[in-house]
Amino acid sequence: MEVCVVGTGYVGLVTGTCLAYLGRSVVCVDIDERKIQALREGQSPIYEPGLQPLIASGQQRGMLRFSTDLEASVRESEIIFIAVGTPPLPSGRANLAAVEAVARSIGRALDWERRRVIVNKSTVPIGSGNWVEMLVKEGLSENAAYQERLALAARAESPAPPASRRLPAFRPEDLFLVASNPEFLREGSAIADTFYPDRIVIGASEAHATERLRALYEPIIEQTFSPPPSAPRPAECAAVPVVTTDLASAEMIKYAANAFLATKISFANEIANICERVGADIKEVVRGFGLDGRIGPQFLNAGVGWGGSCFGKDVSALIDIAQEYHYEPALLRSTVEVNRRQRQVAVQKLQETLKIIKGKTIGLLGLAFKPETDDLRDAPALEIARQLSDMGARVKAYDPIAVEACRANYPELKLEYAASAAALAEDCDAVVVVTEWDEFRHLDLCQLAEVMRAKVIIDGRNVLDREAVEQAGFVYRGVGR
Ligand code: NAD
Repeated sequence: MEVCVVGTGYVGLVTGTCLAYLGRSVVCVDIDERKIQALREGQSPIYEPGLQPLIASGQQRGMLRFSTDLEASVRESEIIFIAVGTPPLPSGRANLAAVEAVARSIGRALDWERRRVIVNKSTVPIGSGNWVEMLVKEGLSENAAYQERLALAARAESPAPPASRRLPAFRPEDLFLVASNPEFLREGSAIADTFYPDRIVIGASEAHATERLRALYEPIIEQTFSPPPSAPRPAECAAVPVVTTDLASAEMIKYAANAFLATKISFANEIANICERVGADIKEVVRGFGLDGRIGPQFLNAGVGWGGSCFGKDVSALIDIAQEYHYEPALLRSTVEVNRRQRQVAVQKLQETLKIIKGKTIGLLGLAFKPETDDLRDAPALEIARQLSDMGARVKAYDPIAVEACRANYPELKLEYAASAAALAEDCDAVVVVTEWDEFRHLDLCQLAEVMRAKVIIDGRNVLDREAVEQAGFVYRGVGR
């Protein structure tokens, strides 16, 4: 089965690499030539645990290739994934410019050698499946070979036969079908999430598309493959459920999942803020109510708010969709608003503890929006750094992985980068845990205490042992505790 994945970012690269591991012949396409060149040389442009060796082995076996030639790659493939970015516009609406460009190019490239399945893996607004179908058809109208073939057929059969009697390969629907296959992987555990997903969602209007995607994913659905060393099969992982549904429902499933997860965190943060005022401890409270089987303990960590490339943009896009249909999404708006306010919590706690921020040195432990990734999109650390700099503080930062990405993508931030947590703490009036990297759970508190100017720790992720921190002589401020 030949597969083309367009968009070689966090989703496309992981999807293509894992499918190649499963024995599919995959070509990953991107417009970014530097990215493709680096990948051809075996270098992953993103940090994702376990990804680099899988890319190398896919390339060595000839199952994984990289290209900037979209049209040639489409022609040699049966299944074509669209996995380009869909970032937010200032209005909150999803920017579909990349999806549009790719869909038209696919139409310009299609031939009639086989029936293609074009799969929206990008997170796209409801109705995008139909829209992509329209764009591919528009691309077909600019497809010289296809138009020539149509003209030849028309000349051979003049007057033209009715559409129902035309040769199958001349009708667009016989050349291609569009399906939706939203992605649920999490950065940091993307390989395991791809091989052992909670479910696979396939939305399509024709059984052929569903069947081909089921066949593509069969080793995952049946769990018949030998796991790579970097992603052993969890003991509890048996067959993976497949949700086959219509296009619109598949598109909505993705938005609903992200909106629910974001709401869960905002809910925990709201309860944390009330806990703080009444003298309860959010960690104890979550332990108590998360054990309720109807609620579950996951995604209830209070802190400085959610971030990343998906939650904010997907909730905003869903709000935009609701508005387009004259529905007021009050709960979704609150989810976003609670998170916006939560982003202020670290700075508020610094103000309460240090009083004057101007001229103080603040160290940020963690930059990435979550551990095990170098992704900084919509990371709370960026906003905290901006606020503190604007208030006249000197801001230092340390992150085990994301420093280079931060330096390259956010040069406007006036950050001083440190090479370790200990180096970060030097001369600091306070340090703030912004990302819950595992190494921050085991900080050498005595060493930190020796080099800091004032002993203040703001635990923006509630990951430190409060008693140990206080015993080391620090003022400890968590969130909701
Ligand atoms: P990304 O920004 O990391 O990658 C997108 C890639 O598409 C980039 O390499 C870019 O150069 C390429 N691209 C843009 N225009 C192109 C074009 N015309 N032709 C070819 N390539 C083009 O994005 P991502 O994080 O991988 O997300 C992709 C989609 O998947 C988004 O819709 C996102 O919402 C969704 N998603 C992301 C995650 C995640 O954790 N990152 C999880 C689930 C779903």
